[in-house]
Amino acid sequence: MSERIIAIDGPAGSGKTTTAREVAARLGFVHLDSGALYRALTLAVLDHQVPLVGERIVALARSLPVRLVLAGRSFVPEVAGADVSEAIRSERVTARVSEVAALAEVREWVNQQLRLAVGEAVEGVVVDGRDIGTVVFPEAPLKVYLTASEEERAQRRLSQMGRRVDPEAVGRTSAELSRRDLMDSSRAVAPLKPAPDAVVLDTTGLTFGEQVERVLELARKVF
Ligand code: C5P
Repeated sequence: MSERIIAIDGPAGSGKTTTAREVAARLGFVHLDSGALYRALTLAVLDHQVPLVGERIVALARSLPVRLVLAGRSFVPEVAGADVSEAIRSERVTARVSEVAALAEVREWVNQQLRLAVGEAVEGVVVDGRDIGTVVFPEAPLKVYLTASEEERAQRRLSQMGRRVDPEAVGRTSAELSRRDLMDSSRAVAPLKPAPDAVVLDTTGLTFGEQVERVLELARKVF
């Protein structure tokens, strides 16, 4: 199965998830958003007031359970049988997710779930996250590392959320993104960084369509 995986990594707001979803649709592959599983776990931790201890969080994940369920061409995050796709995008989850994701036991559990999930997606899968090319699927034949300037990432994030893109909002969102990037790239386990054989794509100034096209061009050479 590992021969039909595209790994897309990059910092917050680089457009990984929207790009991965579109690339998957265009190739007839399934899309797997690994950040959604870290977010679903964080939602469960906050709702159940579980301390930030790896084994406690994994035990909670198993008992509820926290899962990714294949529905058509994408995986839906579920907590105790409920679809949490909306709830995991809340600010309270975004503010705490990097702390949960820094725990080694949590990462090990998530990686197991991701590998199982990919086994279900026989047609091929586009997986996006922070460590997909470096740790989870280092054997993926195509690894892309998406970046964009911090200002552009903040603007895109605001537009995506339907918010006004004024200088004050850009400043605030940009500070939030850089705080999360710093935590994700400086952690001891699986820090955010490009895999040695990843294609680094700086998307500053590219439209969404151009960004998708660049990845598809790379995919056509491999698949
Ligand atoms: O991609 P998204 O912003 O939804 O990811 C939320 C958080 O989950 C990231 O900031 C990071 O802390 C964590 N994450 C991770 N490894 C991944 C995917 C996400 O550590 N593969």
